[in-house]
Amino acid sequence: MIDETRHPCFNKNAAKDYGRMHLPVAPACNVQCNFCNRDYDCVNESRPGVTSTILSPGQAEWFFTKVSAETPISVAGIAGPGDPFCDPEPTLKTFELIRAAHPDAILCVSSNGLNLLSSIPRLAEIGVSHVTITVNAVDAEIGSKIYSWIRRGKRTFRGVEGATLLLENQLAAIASLKAHGITVKINSIVIPGVNDHHIPRIAEEMKKRGADLFNCIPMIPVEGAVFGNLTEPDHDAMWKIKEEAGKFLPQMKHCQRCRADAVGKLTEKDPSLWRELFLDAAS
Ligand code: SF4
Ligand code: SF4
Repeated sequence: MIDETRHPCFNKNAAKDYGRMHLPVAPACNVQCNFCNRDYDCVNESRPGVTSTILSPGQAEWFFTKVSAETPISVAGIAGPGDPFCDPEPTLKTFELIRAAHPDAILCVSSNGLNLLSSIPRLAEIGVSHVTITVNAVDAEIGSKIYSWIRRGKRTFRGVEGATLLLENQLAAIASLKAHGITVKINSIVIPGVNDHHIPRIAEEMKKRGADLFNCIPMIPVEGAVFGNLTEPDHDAMWKIKEEAGKFLPQMKHCQRCRADAVGKLTEKDPSLWRELFLDAAS
């Protein structure tokens, strides 16, 4: 039986004793969010979407095995740097390899939810217990301001049509995840003047859909992104938003906005700690 209370993101008490490892096996993305620029990639930068390199599933398993032998890592997570289900195979293969070698590891994945639905039965079979979906709007008009485009197969959707397609797929995925007994966290990126007023409404809708935990994340303005000139929401603004959203769902309040190759306890900020081993894994 896997002890899920050891997940440092879903249980703040566990963060003192256990770390997580993000395995960067998913480079491509099927959505373009206006706050994201995955081209901007630097080892000194600490934010989602950034990694020093991409690992294959075999390299990821090797790296997880090496590091978890030396430090308490309870979670093998996949959070990009793109979307893990844009091309699901490397993500699913990585989880299969880690599950075979580490029966007690908590498996966790983060997605925009666009192409997640069809992979859920396999995730459940492998024993992935925690899934995060980033839902930045439950109103397609607002969503249309957040996403430049949404790609489905060879077709590209924009505006309200694209945002509607994304939301429909997110809601279907949440329903299926809950039907499979998987814990669901919702991340919402708080974008000033775009969706900051809308976050409690998202939390309310996610509660109705059965989500377990809600994580409001202040947008980091990133050079080269459409929203790169906006100002990051300050502590007071975030506090108020979390208060309002907290009327509907429990709030995660200790998120560190980790890189796609983050390793260790949430409080360990030094990306160079496991870097040599990480680059060995990739070579
Ligand atoms: Fe970036 Fe994630 Fe949005 Fe893709 S879904 S554009 S990786 S933030
Ligand atoms: Fe946990 Fe937040 Fe880091 Fe994800 S980004 S691993 S939820 S602390």
